[in-house]
Amino acid sequence: MGRYIGSVCRLCRREGAQLFLKGDRCFKDKCAIKRRNYAPGQHGRRRIKLQGYGLQLREKQKVKRIYGVLESQFRIYFRKAAAARGVTGENLLSMLERRLDNVVYRLGFAASRSQARQFVNHGHFKVNGRKVDIASFQVRKDDVIELRENSRKNAVIQGNLDTAEGRGIPRWLSLDAAQFRGTVTALPTREDIVMPIQENLIVELYSK
Ligand code: SF4
Repeated sequence: MGRYIGSVCRLCRREGAQLFLKGDRCFKDKCAIKRRNYAPGQHGRRRIKLQGYGLQLREKQKVKRIYGVLESQFRIYFRKAAAARGVTGENLLSMLERRLDNVVYRLGFAASRSQARQFVNHGHFKVNGRKVDIASFQVRKDDVIELRENSRKNAVIQGNLDTAEGRGIPRWLSLDAAQFRGTVTALPTREDIVMPIQENLIVELYSK
């Protein structure tokens, strides 16, 4: 299955929540869900009360869309989360949050996760001094994520960093914007994931 290339705002409207897929626009009044808070399509205005399987499915789709992960990858994450020690749903969210593209986004180098994925794939970043161009790379505590020297004049990345402070850096990361460098000071916990996610619904879905 290929990657979704349609309007990302439709995805937010489908999930009935801001998924912050479009960068700065998400923080402005132009945000589609602020103007049309109903599902896309001809029957979008109909109110359908979801329950059971439908609710679980929507929650899974929402998380996949937030992190830009395809179904097959998502299942692999779930399998690993279930096999690891601790609470499966929290393990799952922690693994998604520790993806390198998400960390680049959360540090403010990119305006959205999809832009961050592109920057990582294009080889703009180093982890602990070595180039890493795999968006799904899992960061660990004390890892240092750094913009490569040749990429420091990139006007888009610089512009993103200038506006990043307004959005805030999560407490498990620290940013030294002057050195174009971020550090993973701790592993993300459930409290660090502020998006409205009910991960227990996803666990129920996959446990059937
Ligand atoms: Fe979602 Fe951002 Fe589009 Fe708003 S602007 S609907 S948050 S992608």
